[in-house]
Amino acid sequence: MVAVPVVLETRRAQAAAPREVPTSGPLVDTHGRVHRDLRISLTDRCSLRCTYCMPEQGNEWLARTSILTLDEIEQVARVGATLGISTFRLTGGEPLLRPDIVEVVQRLAAIEGPGGPVELAMTTNGIRLREYLPALAAAGLQRLNISIDTLDRARFRELTRRDRLDDVLDGIAAAATSGLHPLKLNTVAMRGVNEDELVDLVAFALAHDAELRFIEQMPLDAGHTWSRDSMVTRDEILEVLARCWDLTPLPGRGGAPAERFLLDGGPATVGVIASVTAPFCGDCDRLRLTADGQLRNCLFSTSEYDLLPALRSGGGDQAIEAMLRSCVHGKLPGHAINDPSFLQPARGMNAIGG
Ligand code: SAM
Ligand code: SF4
Repeated sequence: MVAVPVVLETRRAQAAAPREVPTSGPLVDTHGRVHRDLRISLTDRCSLRCTYCMPEQGNEWLARTSILTLDEIEQVARVGATLGISTFRLTGGEPLLRPDIVEVVQRLAAIEGPGGPVELAMTTNGIRLREYLPALAAAGLQRLNISIDTLDRARFRELTRRDRLDDVLDGIAAAATSGLHPLKLNTVAMRGVNEDELVDLVAFALAHDAELRFIEQMPLDAGHTWSRDSMVTRDEILEVLARCWDLTPLPGRGGAPAERFLLDGGPATVGVIASVTAPFCGDCDRLRLTADGQLRNCLFSTSEYDLLPALRSGGGDQAIEAMLRSCVHGKLPGHAINDPSFLQPARGMNAIGG
């Protein structure tokens, strides 16, 4: 079958959708999904080089002049909050590499929408977290997700191309005793890499009063090396876990990406994010802002909405609102990973914001 660029699919879907972009009300798309979650990527740089995310060398970094300033991020976030965005998640790249990270947290945590103050969370690799935690918590950060794919030092070095496991473990230990709860740990499950550690990683999370969330590996690495064969699927993950724990599905998932299960009746839980084998696009409420000011309505979008001109030519809040509304309006019903016409986005995960 001839591959059809996803961007053409986008145009087709937009043509079928009502032409008018709403000018009032919440951020609702043409499929009735109300958007409440904004992922904000603060940088595409990182202290690690995870194989499923970035190549070791030759990565093309975003131009420094295009990286949003703190004022610009705050303006987009504030406008989003007035339109019903109620959660901001800071990500990257590695958000803790941003020199003004504490101020970013402070300014975003102070934003209020019609429903009250926003929730503010962060996804991090945990390196230098111990040092930053007190200031981040004081600035208003509420929740943390920390990524850890293996507990084995040699594997960690191979997988991330950096010998930093001890720093990550230290960050997790600090988070576990901080007031930022619930704590979540993210693991990308990979065949022949860490598939024999799934149970150990859950036990590690439980020992830190955290929930482990397994993520199916997605075709989003900047090196375009993803293969379906190297991915460990949701069903395989659950089969392994079910050998050690009774798994009871938790209802009430809403727009959340993770399917969650009680372990042995609870209260401990585990999550699985099965974007590839069990997509959850029908309930997606997420939008993304890249570090260089591009709005994305899906992780897998091949088209973006450029906010930089509005932000840098004094377009004001109205221009940003119009762009947010257009971006939501143009959202497709689902990603096309499992379609033969799927085209991987040009940006790697580090430049999109996971
Ligand atoms: N550097 C931070 C970290 O690693 O937590 C935040 C950014 S990272 C891009 C956010 C999340 O995306 C991490 O949990 C990471 O494991 C996940 N991720 C990155 N590339 C992925 C891929 N190809 N498939 C699935 N998850 C991926
Ligand atoms: Fe860095 Fe996170 Fe990507 Fe790993 S997954 S290379 S820690 S941005």
